[in-house]
Amino acid sequence: MPYYSSAGLSRALQVLEEYLDAVCKGLPVAAVQQLKICPQCWTPGTEAEQMWLNPRSKYCFSCGTQLRERCVSCNEPIKSIKFRFCPYCGNAYKSAK
Ligand SMILES: [Zn+2]
Ligand SMILES: [Zn+2]
Repeated sequence: MPYYSSAGLSRALQVLEEYLDAVCKGLPVAAVQQLKICPQCWTPGTEAEQMWLNPRSKYCFSCGTQLRERCVSCNEPIKSIKFRFCPYCGNAYKSAK
């Protein structure tokens, strides 16, 4: 059935095109973005500020504290902004030291 398969192929190509389009435009890909929080201003359970998530942001725009993107205790990256504690070692993300 040549007609059927070519329709399926063009649909697959269209999906691929849309995906490549998003990549080319630099649209955010959720899985790649590294979470960062300010250990001073962040309230556990709330969304991270967009300014913290900016790849060029290294310090909090509000208080100047160095942003935290990984556990200070075991160095594992912060997986979810919903976590209050590191799932690997139990260290609180929002700790003074
Ligand atoms: Zn701050
Ligand atoms: Zn940890």
